[in-house]
Amino acid sequence: MPFVFILICFFFASCAHQQMDIPTPVPPSDEDAPYVPEEPPEAGSEPSVPDAEPSETPLEKALRMVKRNELQKQWRAQKDDITVYTEFSIEGSEFTVVYDMIHASLQENGRFQVPFFIEALSTGESLVDSVDWLIQDDEAGLLLSFDDDYIEAWERTFDLFDRYSVRVTFFVQGRPLNFAKQALARGHDVGYHTIHHLNLPLVSKTVFMEEATSDIATFRDAGIPLRSFAYPYGLFSPWMHEELFHSFTILRGYGVTFHLYDAAGIKQGYVAAKAIDNILYKHDDEFHAIITLMLRVVKFTGTVLPLCTHNIAGIVDWGITPDRLEYLLKTAYELHLKFYCYKDFI
Ligand SMILES: [Zn+2]
Repeated sequence: MPFVFILICFFFASCAHQQMDIPTPVPPSDEDAPYVPEEPPEAGSEPSVPDAEPSETPLEKALRMVKRNELQKQWRAQKDDITVYTEFSIEGSEFTVVYDMIHASLQENGRFQVPFFIEALSTGESLVDSVDWLIQDDEAGLLLSFDDDYIEAWERTFDLFDRYSVRVTFFVQGRPLNFAKQALARGHDVGYHTIHHLNLPLVSKTVFMEEATSDIATFRDAGIPLRSFAYPYGLFSPWMHEELFHSFTILRGYGVTFHLYDAAGIKQGYVAAKAIDNILYKHDDEFHAIITLMLRVVKFTGTVLPLCTHNIAGIVDWGITPDRLEYLLKTAYELHLKFYCYKDFI
């Protein structure tokens, strides 16, 4: 069955990619844990069934429902191996639909055709078809952030952000007050990333508090409210969240795994941002493919994707090339994705 073959190929290609080691600083250890879905499917849910037609089988009814493209989509991901699917039941028969987002094709009428594989779990019947997908304005979007102290590179990129009407969040390290003021004046957001970028789980609580909170008043007195915090290297101990929630509203982790959120999920206070640094994607083709897939999945599921990188320069491991950044902005623009700042969820 060709579609299954494509899925299997894609799976193995993804696995090969996932084996790439990341040098120190290491991603958070939880990123290596086995996948646990954040949004378990609602087994047995009974979506509205279109008007029945005589002698129509449950599979035929299910097929019509999928093609109306109104079913709630679920997602699961392990690093870059991303699957969008729907599970539902009709008249006691359970169905699984898997959408092939990477092979969705844009038609001349501006609509995507998204191939899908549907299987009736009770009978094993399955088939491949496609659903018509019209891109519309909605709340789906990206939460793009830049970490550390690459002030000059970020300032050079302000004009590019303006060209695409994009707002981002800079998680600054140290005390770059002038840059922070400028970023806020240009519509962006500023969060905090500690004084010295230490590995926080390895320092005393006194040092942790000093690193994370002692300069908040300095920023505040300069007119810069720091409301969000990014853990250096994405590393933290369980007790740190509670301490930081006295000073910050949203805490951000960092890793190689793809996580999608809705607004309520972000407002719970912790999000894990997906790294898109050059070191993870050696070739532009590879980067373009994963960005295309990720952004289509965000739009198709109506969710928000936190992304994170560092420098903006050509030959750096921990950063993104200007060309890659523009590819990301352009792809998001074409998909009518919004750009959010962390302060939008406070
Ligand atoms: Zn950092």
